[in-house]
Amino acid sequence: MISEKMLRLAQNNSVIRAMFEEGNALAERFGRENVFDFSLGNPNFPAPPSLDGAVRAVLDDTLSTDVHGYMSNAGFLPVRRAVSENLNARFGSGYEPAGIIMSVGAAGALNVVLKTLLNPGDEILAFAPYFVEYGNYVANYDGVLKVVPPNPPSFLPDEKAFAALISDKTKAVIINTPNNPTGVIYGEKTLTAIADVLTQKQKEYGHPIYLISDEPYRELVYDGAAQPFSANFYENTLVCYSWSKSLSLPGERIGYIAVRPGAEDYALLLDAMSIATRVMGFVNAPALMQLAVARVLSEEPAISGYAENRKLLFEGLTALGYECVRPDGAFYLWVQAPGSDDKAFVAAAKKYNILFVPGTSFACPGYVRIAYCVSRDMIERSLTAFAALASDLGLRKA
Ligand code: PLP
Repeated sequence: MISEKMLRLAQNNSVIRAMFEEGNALAERFGRENVFDFSLGNPNFPAPPSLDGAVRAVLDDTLSTDVHGYMSNAGFLPVRRAVSENLNARFGSGYEPAGIIMSVGAAGALNVVLKTLLNPGDEILAFAPYFVEYGNYVANYDGVLKVVPPNPPSFLPDEKAFAALISDKTKAVIINTPNNPTGVIYGEKTLTAIADVLTQKQKEYGHPIYLISDEPYRELVYDGAAQPFSANFYENTLVCYSWSKSLSLPGERIGYIAVRPGAEDYALLLDAMSIATRVMGFVNAPALMQLAVARVLSEEPAISGYAENRKLLFEGLTALGYECVRPDGAFYLWVQAPGSDDKAFVAAAKKYNILFVPGTSFACPGYVRIAYCVSRDMIERSLTAFAALASDLGLRKA
């Protein structure tokens, strides 16, 4: 018999993954062109040619004979140096190469951080709506996820509700900006307010409370919006970054954790994170990808393509009477469910072969997430189906 923990997970397997499978089944039945699958955050734009070139260059480079070998658990030092220098140049931060731990994507980074921090019963706070896997990751280390309720219509953190949930057991708070699923960006004011609350609570409880900044969408911002660098606001910030979204590399599993030199227990944190990387069985982040991304650190994401998708979908759905949060970043549209019933909305959409994810999966019922990292062509074709759905639901006609 498998463990009770895994049994629970197997029984409640991810709704998003299940929808992805459902989309494939529908495509088989009705033809791919007649299915509008907005369920998964899988970037539709290919990785940039420079990345492919970098992979080839790494393989061709005779100096990289150790490309397929074991290395320090934290990653190749020259890669960590390149990442720290890139961050320092872009954000004026003071990272050292040692403060960068290469990771197996953002998921690997988050797990390493949580393994490093948590004793059983310790608490982690997250702001709803949040990336659904946080609950599983925290449970991996017998921590307790405490959820700060959603704060519509801005979906920015409610500082009072947040402060009230912090206790002596709080080890860390997770933020994700630009946000999955809302597309909201936490600006300077919000990041300062979070830092102020944490600074005060650290003092009150006499131990560090870390800010885990999960930022795989950092560079995905629109209309000149800027994502301030979260770690510049609070010393005890542990940045979890990944190239999954910015360079369309989700299958390659490559990212990093960045720790500021002034973070409490800096040396101990770094040692423990390295060991966590090993004992969790990752051993190290993928070697070839470390060496390849280090060569393309100034590469930009496919922002203009996502911006076109965003405009088309946001304007198309708004005109049909859907209530959408205007996303400033990431590649998701957060839409209010007519009648506040997200599951009914998802079911009604399925009749038109439109798939998107209920807000319940992000601890925020009453909304749905529509991932627009899909082809422009699919968005264009889907608008007729969205119009028929709007008419079923009695929304305003375009
Ligand atoms: N965090 C958030 C907010 C995400 O949306 C995702 C993936 O969708 C991840 C973490 C995991 O990213 P990765 O594929 O780099 O592990």
